[in-house]
Amino acid sequence: MNGSFKFHLPTEIVFGTDVIKEAGPKFALGKKALIVTGKTSAKASGALADVLAVLPTDYVLFSEVENNPSEETVKKGGQLARKEKCDYIIAIGGGSPLDAAKVMGILAVNDAEPAELYEMGWENEALPVVAIPTTAGTGSEVTQYAVLTLEDEQTKKGLGGKDLFPRVAYLDPKYTASLPVSITVDTAVDALSHLVEGYLSKRATPASDLTALQGMATWSTALEKLRRGELDQEVRGALLLASCLAGVTIAQSGTTIVHALGYPLTYFHGFPHGRANGVLMGAYLQFMAKFAPDKVDNVLDILGLASLDEFSDLMEEFFGGYKGHLSLSEEQIQAYAAKAAQTGNCANTLGGLSADDVAEILKASIMV
Ligand code: NAP
Ligand code: ZN
Repeated sequence: MNGSFKFHLPTEIVFGTDVIKEAGPKFALGKKALIVTGKTSAKASGALADVLAVLPTDYVLFSEVENNPSEETVKKGGQLARKEKCDYIIAIGGGSPLDAAKVMGILAVNDAEPAELYEMGWENEALPVVAIPTTAGTGSEVTQYAVLTLEDEQTKKGLGGKDLFPRVAYLDPKYTASLPVSITVDTAVDALSHLVEGYLSKRATPASDLTALQGMATWSTALEKLRRGELDQEVRGALLLASCLAGVTIAQSGTTIVHALGYPLTYFHGFPHGRANGVLMGAYLQFMAKFAPDKVDNVLDILGLASLDEFSDLMEEFFGGYKGHLSLSEEQIQAYAAKAAQTGNCANTLGGLSADDVAEILKASIMV
C-alpha cells in the first residue's frame, strides 16, 4: 500500500428478502429489456418469475448461456439485443449469465468481435445492466469484469471496463436455495478466493482490506454448516453477503495468480471455477506466507484454522480427494504456468512470481 488509493463502486446494491417485489416498477431501467439467463437456474430459483411479476416494460428472453460463456453466445445475445432494440439488460443467474450479459451489453451498441474487446476496448457505453445473482460466488453483480472462454487462446480471460459495473444489483438469498450442495461449495470457495486474493493482492487498499476482512468474517460464520451440508436460510444469507463483499473487494484489488492458474484447470480439465481456485489456494498461501505473514495469519485466524495444512485439508474435504487424481505431465505444468505467469493477475501477486514459482504452486497443489 503506497499511501494513495481510489474506491470506485457505482453499483447500487439492494440486499434482502423480496427486494425485487419491493422495487416494483422502479426495477426497469429503460423501455425494453433483454433478459439474459442460463438454461434452468432463473426459473428454478424463482428469480425470473419475480422479475416478470414487477416488470413494467417489454422484454425478450435469451436463455442459452452455458457455464463459462463462449464468444459465440455473447455474440448471439448482443445481436438479439440490437435487433430487438433493447435499451437495457436484466441478467439472472450465476457468474456465467451475469458476465455474458455484460458483454452482450457492449456488443449491442458496438460493432466488434468479442475477442477484439480485449485489445481495442469499445467506443460506445455498454447498455445498463440489472444483475440478480442466483449463486453466491463470483460477485459479478458488483464488479466491472466479465470472463469469457476464448477458443483461439485455449483459455478463459477476463475483460474489464467501468461501464461493466451493473447499474443495480438485487441480492435475495432465497434465489440461492435451489443450488445443490456441490455448486454451493464450489461457488462459496470462489467467494473465499476473491476475499483472500483481494486481501493479499499488490493492489489491496485500506478500503478493500475492510471489505475483505468483513467478507471473510461473514464467510466463516457459514463454514461449519457448509461442511455439514446444512444449508439453511442463515447460511445462504451469509454466503451471498460474503460473495458480494468479495466482489466489492476484487473490483478494487483485482484477483491474483490463483485465478490465472485456475483457468487451464477449467478449460482443459473441466473443473468448476471455484473448485479450480480451491485446489490451488493452499499452495498459494504457503507462498504468500513468505511475503505477507501477518495477513496470512489473519486469514487463518478469521477462518478458525490453526495452520496452512488445516486450510489445505479443508479444501481436500470440500473437493473429495482431488490430490493425486489430477495427473498432469511436466509439459502441461510448464505450459499452464508459463501462460499464467504472463497475466495481469500474476503481476498483482505479491513476491514477483516467476513461471518456475507458478509451476511449483501448481505441482504442490496436485501432488499427494
Ligand atoms: P455458473 O457457471 O453461472 O453456474 C453453474 C451452474 O449452477 C449452472 O449449471 C447453473 O445453471 C447452476 N445454477 C446457478 N444458480 C442456480 C440456482 N439458484 N439453482 C440451481 N442451479 C443453479 O457458476 P458461477 O460459479 O456462479 O459462475 C462462474 C463463472 O463466473 C465463470 O465463468 C467465472 O470465470 C466467472 N467469474 C466472474 C467473475 C467476475 O468478477 N465477473 C468473478 C469470478 C468468476 P444454468 O445452466 O441455468 O445457468
Ligand atoms: Zn472467481
